[in-house]
Amino acid sequence: MSVSETATPGQISEKGAAGVRMRGVTKAFGSNVVLRDLDLDVAAGERVVIIGPSGSGKTTILRATMTLERIDSGTIEVGGRHLYHELHGSKLRPARESHIRAVRSDIGMVFQHFNLFPHMTALENIMLAPMKVHGKSREQARDSGMELLDKVGLAHAANQTPGQLSGGQKQRVAIARSLACEPKVMLFDEVTSALDPELVGEVLNVLRDIAEEGRTTMMLVTHEMGFAREMADRVVMFDGGQIIESGAPADVLVDPQHERTKAFLGAVK
Ligand code: ADP
Repeated sequence: MSVSETATPGQISEKGAAGVRMRGVTKAFGSNVVLRDLDLDVAAGERVVIIGPSGSGKTTILRATMTLERIDSGTIEVGGRHLYHELHGSKLRPARESHIRAVRSDIGMVFQHFNLFPHMTALENIMLAPMKVHGKSREQARDSGMELLDKVGLAHAANQTPGQLSGGQKQRVAIARSLACEPKVMLFDEVTSALDPELVGEVLNVLRDIAEEGRTTMMLVTHEMGFAREMADRVVMFDGGQIIESGAPADVLVDPQHERTKAFLGAVK
């Protein structure tokens, strides 16, 4: 990523990627406080890998950014627009659903378990949101859907249903589906964890291609440390719902400063 492609947090890069700014984000499930007063800035076009032990809040921060979990307090901005709040003069008020939906339309998320519609073909899965949410015509959605399938190496599988595809192919369709809405920020939650080892590489290759294009900011939760080291601009270590260490992969993954990071990396190696 060159400096010219990177805007300051909260802005949009030349290529259309959006920055993310989180302040004081807190979330509890009952008495279990999962995110604690968390601050995180992700620059437009940046690729941030989130690591940390199970239960440290990695999935929850992605789901909160996708508005699949509502936060208890704090703020999240995407491309300079508040996600959960609206500005009334200089005052922040809780946002209406229509505002939340509008800001969220800039964000795409890919899950561990694909979440494809099983009764639809690969192409139909990809065409759905552009038609229903973004008002594209069937022809437009089909053309760009085929382009995306080609991009993830699956043009030949356009008319197959998820049940006819391998795990790696399903995940590539899920990624293409997410790209169909031209997200300015993409969230990837352990997208290779459910795959057989021999299928992981094909999905990581698609992520590399997306990263290279630089059109979207990427936040990834992954246990693929080699991949993280190669493609992350920054690695962020979560523990107990907070960020305890953050820096270049060559620092955090190779020469971690925090004892908890050392212990975690020792355990995943
Ligand atoms: P990680 O991704 O780091 O493994 P998560 O964000 O998935 O961690 O979960 C953090 C904590 O929040 C865990 O203790 C988990 O059990 C809890 N949690 C996550 N989602 C829910 C939920 N919907 N209801 C209750 N507890 C949840």
